[in-house]
Amino acid sequence: MAVRPRRQAVAVEVGGVKVGGNHPIVVQSMTNTDTADVAATVNQSMALARAGSELVRVTVNTEQAAQAVPKIVETLDRFGVRVPIIGDFHYNGHILLKKYPECARALAKYRINPGNVNIGRKTDDNFRTMIEVAIENGKPVRIGVNWGSLDQALLTRMMDENSKLPEPKDAREVTLDAIVASAVNSAQAAESYGLGRDRIILSAKVSGVQDLIDVYRALASACDYALHLGLTEAGLGSKGIVATTAALAPLLQEGIGDTIRTSLTPAPNGDRTEEVIVSQQILQSLGIRSFTPQVTACPGCGRTTSTFFQEMADKIQTYLRDQMPRWKPLHPGVETMKVAVMGCVVNGPGESKHSNIGISLPGTFEEPKAPVYVDGRLMTTLKGNHIVAEFIQILNDYVSSHYAA
Ligand code: SF4
Repeated sequence: MAVRPRRQAVAVEVGGVKVGGNHPIVVQSMTNTDTADVAATVNQSMALARAGSELVRVTVNTEQAAQAVPKIVETLDRFGVRVPIIGDFHYNGHILLKKYPECARALAKYRINPGNVNIGRKTDDNFRTMIEVAIENGKPVRIGVNWGSLDQALLTRMMDENSKLPEPKDAREVTLDAIVASAVNSAQAAESYGLGRDRIILSAKVSGVQDLIDVYRALASACDYALHLGLTEAGLGSKGIVATTAALAPLLQEGIGDTIRTSLTPAPNGDRTEEVIVSQQILQSLGIRSFTPQVTACPGCGRTTSTFFQEMADKIQTYLRDQMPRWKPLHPGVETMKVAVMGCVVNGPGESKHSNIGISLPGTFEEPKAPVYVDGRLMTTLKGNHIVAEFIQILNDYVSSHYAA
C-alpha cells in the first residue's frame, strides 16, 4: 500500500522553513532546559538542530525566559545554527510578548494554547493580544490544543448541548469533538483578528493513540490549516517510541500531518536528541522522507553467538549517522542509501543483494569470511581483524562514486 497523497494544507513559513502545502513534512523538537539559562538552551538547541530538528521550541514561561530568547537566537546565529526558535506560551504569553518586544521579534513562531489564555472563559483579550503581536511582527502561530488543558467552558457547553440530544454521544466523543472545535474556533477567531491563514498551524494533542487518530482525522476534514502532529506525553523509552509510531504512522499514511514531534520523556541525563531521531525514523520507515542511510540488520539467533555482528551493525549505523552533516551537502541522495549487516549466510547474501552495500558475517561454525555485495553483486570477501574498517572504506568509496555533488 502506498502512502496516500498529502492533504493539501495552506503553506506556512516559519523562519524560512516551509510547513504544509507540498513541502516536506518538518521534524521539530523541544528543549527541556531552563530557557533563562542561555548557555544550556543554546547547547541543547544546537544538539537538536545538528541531529536534524528543523524547528526547535523553547518554553517562554517567565520574564527571565523572555529576556533570554533574543540572546539564544543571537548566539545560535553567531555559531551558524539557523534553526528557527519557537516560543511556547501558557497563561502569561500575552504579558510576556507585549513586555518583551525583542523576544516577540526574535521568535520564529508563537505556540498558543487556547485552553489557558482565557478564550471562551471570561474574555478572549489575552488570545487576541497574542494574535495581534503575531500580526505586528509578521509571525505565524501554532494554535495548540492539548486535552490536559482543554478550554473547560467550551467542553461544558458542548457536554450540555449533547445531553439534550435525542441520542447523546458518549463523553469521549464529546471531548474529542471539543478538542477539534477548540482548535478550529480559535483559528477562525485569529483570522477574524486579521491573522492570515498562511500564518496558522493547528495541533490537537492527546495521549491516547486511538484518540489521537480520531481527533486528527476529524481536524483534517474540518479545515485546511497546516497540522502539527504529535502524541502528547508519549512516555519513556520503548513505550513512548512505540506509542508515537502507532499513533502517527496511520495518519501520515493517510496524508495527514505537515510537521511532527515525538514527545519522549528522556531518561535522567538522557539524550534529548533521541526524539529527533525517532521522528526522522518514523518518516523514513514509511518511505516519506529520507534523512540518513539505513542499516538493515537481522535480529541474530543461535547461528551467530558472538557479539561481533551486533557491534558491527551498531558501529556502521553510528558511523553513517555521524557522517551525515558532512556528506549531506557533498553527496546529495546519500540519505537514501541502504546498507545490510547480516549475521550469517542464511539470509545474509539475499538481504545484502537488496541493499546498495551488504555484508554477511560468518555465523558460528561458518568459515571466518564475510562476503560483501555491492549493487547486488559479490564485490569482495573480507576476513581477519579489520573487517569493520575495510567495510567502512568500501562504504566511503561507494558514497564518493555514487553520490557525487
Ligand atoms: S541471518 Fe543468520 S544469524 Fe541472522 S537471524 Fe537469520 S539465521 Fe540468524
